[in-house]
Amino acid sequence: MATVSQQAAAQPLTEEAPERIEQVLRLQRDYFAAGHTLPVSFRKAQLRKLQQVLKQNEQLLFDALYADFKKPALEAYGTEIGFIELELKLAIKNINDWTKRRRVPETLLNFPAKSYVYPQPYGVALIISPWNYPLNLLFTPLIGAMAAGNCAILKPSEIASHTAAAVAEIISRNFDERYIAVVQGGVQTSQTLLAQKFDYIFFTGSTQVGKTVMKAAAEHLTPVTLELGGKSPAIVANDADLELAARRICWGKFLNAGQTCVAPDYVLVHEDAKEELIQQMAKAIKDFYSDKPIQSPDFARIINTKHFNRLRTMLLPEHIRVGGHIDADNLYIAPTVLDNLTWEHPAMQEEIFGPILPVLSFSNTAEAIKMINRHEKPLALYLFTNNQECQEQILKQVAFGGGCINDTLSHLANPNLPFGGIGNSGQGSYHGFASFDVFSHQKSVLHRGTWLDLPVRYPPYGNKLGVLRKVFKWL
Ligand code: NAD
Repeated sequence: MATVSQQAAAQPLTEEAPERIEQVLRLQRDYFAAGHTLPVSFRKAQLRKLQQVLKQNEQLLFDALYADFKKPALEAYGTEIGFIELELKLAIKNINDWTKRRRVPETLLNFPAKSYVYPQPYGVALIISPWNYPLNLLFTPLIGAMAAGNCAILKPSEIASHTAAAVAEIISRNFDERYIAVVQGGVQTSQTLLAQKFDYIFFTGSTQVGKTVMKAAAEHLTPVTLELGGKSPAIVANDADLELAARRICWGKFLNAGQTCVAPDYVLVHEDAKEELIQQMAKAIKDFYSDKPIQSPDFARIINTKHFNRLRTMLLPEHIRVGGHIDADNLYIAPTVLDNLTWEHPAMQEEIFGPILPVLSFSNTAEAIKMINRHEKPLALYLFTNNQECQEQILKQVAFGGGCINDTLSHLANPNLPFGGIGNSGQGSYHGFASFDVFSHQKSVLHRGTWLDLPVRYPPYGNKLGVLRKVFKWL
């Protein structure tokens, strides 16, 4: 029997019929309206079911990720399957607390009263995901949508086709489509979905498509979260431990062959430390992937020919300090470090999203800040220094989504840190409680006591203005 992966590989891209999309949406609307998703017991049971289903299908998912990228099993577990398991565990453990109404302080103006915020599910959510972490970026928002009591339609990326097929099969076999459904397809399907009225749209992908999504959402005044991309810098000051910085930057950059939204896109290093840092990065690459990274089982491949060809135009020989080798048949680009380049270089014109790491230098912190602030606000920023003054200067003066001091990517591993971008790198955030929160409307309700009804607010107003002024003064 053919595996899901083999079936996916054999299938050309098909777009979902609009009638089918409308039908699933109608079913989900009715299911939500009937209140099925409201009880916390239902949500918890469904999250547990998802936990179980993912466990049962773990090998299928590993295989699909390998078929799409040759994603090493450790990376597939650490950044996708294991990550989702942790988010599920956290949601199941905390859902009782998260769903409780939250009392907020009262104001004397309303005496006697108590005020509460009730988290309320939006209804039917649309979750659109990209190809680079095709499980994580579909299931992590889904966990938030489920915990918050929504129905959801999932649109995986057609580019990671094996994983999309595996997810569609797993979900359709185990979940009622009136509650969770997967719609497969490409841009056309995505646009058909976006033309519908959803109650929430959670989009992860490029900044350019993010704008299309926001425009479509505006038609229906649908609230959106946009998790987008951009050029995330790694700044290395001259007091940094350069060996450690090189290892941590190379790990964050070359994981998933650089196809990570929060990968350090480029390095900005103090000019006095540049040469040593490049040497240390060459050493780290060799330590991680040997002299022949093409033979390393721990280094992934570029997702498709289009991205491979886009990336190869960045490999101008005069700038290559480490790596630079390519193999088109295997969609392989070696872990590569570029040096002596300016912002006009092709690698500095767009988000790289591949295993190519340009190194630029600065002479003082203010100059580094200026360079970053001249461009769009990045999704992530990594700073390597133990100098607190430098840390504060950069944290205060540069706007970015999130990041780390003396590390890369690891902020995503703490679910207590809301994850999201700013400006061109996105809006809204999720992970842990923030995922529940983003899929919940905060319904604010004041419960007024009935035993006292002061007449000051009622007409005729007569000379009550003076009394009202006094009340406002006490507040
Ligand atoms: P993409 O924007 O091309 O595609 C994302 C999704 O949108 C896919 O499901 C695709 O089918 C759909 N889509 C594509 N074009 C569309 C259109 N014109 N109209 C409607 N829908 C459309 O992104 P990608 O290439 O899959 O992913 C790479 C990008 O995603 C990078 O920019 C990366 O930084 C970003 N990203 C961001 C995060 C984050 O968490 N902030 C995570 C991963 C990737």
